[in-house]
Amino acid sequence: MKEDRLVKTTCPFCGVGCTLELHLKDDFIYRVTSPFDSVVNHGNLCVKGRFGYDFLYSPNRVTTPLIRKVPQKPGARTQAFDLSEWREVSWDEALDTAADRMVEIYRRDGPRAMAAYSCAKATNEDNYLLQKLIRALFRTNNIDHCTRLCHAASVVALQMAVGSSAMSNTAAEVIQNDVFIVTGSNVSENHPIIALQMKAAVEKYGAKLIVVDPRRIEMVNYAALWLAQKPGTDVPVFAAMAHVILKEGLANREFIASRTENFDAFAESMEKFTPAVAESISGVPQELIIQAARMYGSAKNAAIYWALGIPEHTHGTANALSLINLALLTGNIGRVGTGLNPLRGQNNVQGASDSGAMPWHYPGYQRVDDLAAAEKFEAAWKIEPGGLDRNLGLTTTEIMAAVQPGGVRCLYIMGENPMMSEPNLNHTRHQMEQIEFLVAQDLFINESGAFADVFLPATSWAEKDGTFTNTDRRVQRVLQAIPPRGNSRPDWRILCDLALRIEKRLGRQVSAGWNYQHPAEILEEMSRLVPDYAGIRYERIEKEGLQTPVPDLTHPGTPFLFSERFPRGKGKFHPLDYVPSAEMPDDDFPLILTTGRVLEHWHGGSLTRNSWMDDLYPEALVEINPADAARLKIESGQPVRVTSRRGSIVLRANVTPKAVSGVVFIPFHFREAAANLLTNDAVDPVAKIPEYKVSAVRITPAREEELATPEARQKRGRY
Ligand code: SF4
Repeated sequence: MKEDRLVKTTCPFCGVGCTLELHLKDDFIYRVTSPFDSVVNHGNLCVKGRFGYDFLYSPNRVTTPLIRKVPQKPGARTQAFDLSEWREVSWDEALDTAADRMVEIYRRDGPRAMAAYSCAKATNEDNYLLQKLIRALFRTNNIDHCTRLCHAASVVALQMAVGSSAMSNTAAEVIQNDVFIVTGSNVSENHPIIALQMKAAVEKYGAKLIVVDPRRIEMVNYAALWLAQKPGTDVPVFAAMAHVILKEGLANREFIASRTENFDAFAESMEKFTPAVAESISGVPQELIIQAARMYGSAKNAAIYWALGIPEHTHGTANALSLINLALLTGNIGRVGTGLNPLRGQNNVQGASDSGAMPWHYPGYQRVDDLAAAEKFEAAWKIEPGGLDRNLGLTTTEIMAAVQPGGVRCLYIMGENPMMSEPNLNHTRHQMEQIEFLVAQDLFINESGAFADVFLPATSWAEKDGTFTNTDRRVQRVLQAIPPRGNSRPDWRILCDLALRIEKRLGRQVSAGWNYQHPAEILEEMSRLVPDYAGIRYERIEKEGLQTPVPDLTHPGTPFLFSERFPRGKGKFHPLDYVPSAEMPDDDFPLILTTGRVLEHWHGGSLTRNSWMDDLYPEALVEINPADAARLKIESGQPVRVTSRRGSIVLRANVTPKAVSGVVFIPFHFREAAANLLTNDAVDPVAKIPEYKVSAVRITPAREEELATPEARQKRGRY
């Protein structure tokens, strides 16, 4: 087949942000490739980017606005996956109904009754508009998105230590590292194209890799050292590395003196973390810790890359600070080939955060409790002085916990799926049942949308214009390739139409401004309010993206940060203590469960489970070490029941040395065996991120008939 059009756009799955070329014939996307000169991925794509786009054409997609036939009541709300339980309505009826009920609840109960989940898969423009709608119209900061569930602790720690929360360097710079640490990141499955670059760094450019991870992930095959710490013991391992660096005179005294503060308190707190103490807590042999410290501490250029294995703990902020301390101690920050690099998960989680879809910050990380910032946004959105809420809003988990009389009554969910992504899902289900009015805006009726009163069908990334910001701060274009399917509409358009209706019902005399004709106008408004985006315009990023900060219209972008100074001035060391995980294994629950992703799927599975990807990896598997399996008399392929204090699921075992003894792994994409029925909803007290990475479980054999049936699995979105 020969295409009649090629559309260059950005991948909708992970934060790497690969460039895609969509091949179209008669408005049908039949193939995806990538140009060899693409700056992020040099023509390489993983299986999701190359083949996973067919969710666009899934028969499960909803393309007409829907309203539930049976009115839902708080406390008795039910899920409706079947279209027969919904009434197809016009856009006017759906939007009017949503606006009427939202305004009714707001008038009755005030701002605290309103909340929204924004979406890290949606564009910057979509996220900017939803936070503007919630703040400007309902005068609350109760808006958050899945960054709370993935990198919130990294964001908080980086803000505390350096005053910026993004990756400091460009991912492709890994080939300029002499030494690099990968920790809490199964990078070859979660960021496959960055993994390719890491493998090249080792094999072609001679870099030394240190993997610090409880699982025997693929990157261990490329590592000079593998430190397999027990889950939840990251602080002792990295603090012991700092201890060795200090004792052996490997610290960069010049950098410490000129660029940092609070060194003495930090150094004193590292005294107790001898390698022997770290070994006794983490199980990592002290010789390995010493070798890792010498390798990282004596490298000319060294970098640290991490993902969710670091922040998703009740001490996630301390985990991230232990990495930041290492970089400050050795001066491995502020130069090419160094850095602190939290690899962001979803395609636009960096952008959704930049756009202000967070409860403590306006766009550009400007605090909602900062008077000057509040006044700036009041002026921009034509709101009376003092009109915007000066209080911090609720985070995702706090929003769910606050669903009760006198708390949150109305929830707007754009593209998220808390019924898959929140910890302790039985509790989440109970809370979802209590909501008074729920709007879902999405492509599919997922487990959360099935609770909604009104369903607003959005377009996919291929049916709208906008921008995504990838993990290394590159703002890239998303281009409309095909018309919206059916009656679906782009998220930004839905939000504008809804906002105008709400504003009218509220009787606001002056509009906050919703008459955008194109998403470029939304980005332009955001760029006037966010200094790091000031120089970004669509025409400047048509060919390739620009890395923020882009402070003016001629600035070429910023591949690495902090060359002269940190945004907070000096980098701040933080003293640390070891705090155990909230739930440790015991006689009843002797194994540690850790959760994560697999290569073929993404997040709650809304997209990949409605694509060919589901044929490649069709059911959940629990990875268990051969020694544990032998002790429990379990074989690969056998159904097993995994039980925690919060729930239980049945799935097949995958007996593999990838799992270390005492630790099992379950991916969280599968609704038939939802890993988050098991996980603990205890949170980091600073960043409020749940402890997904450590839950105590037991495993017992199960019967074949206890598995979700193939028919149920075939229903995918309907199960
Ligand atoms: Fe898409 Fe990420 Fe795969 Fe690249 S690595 S093709 S951005 S899913």
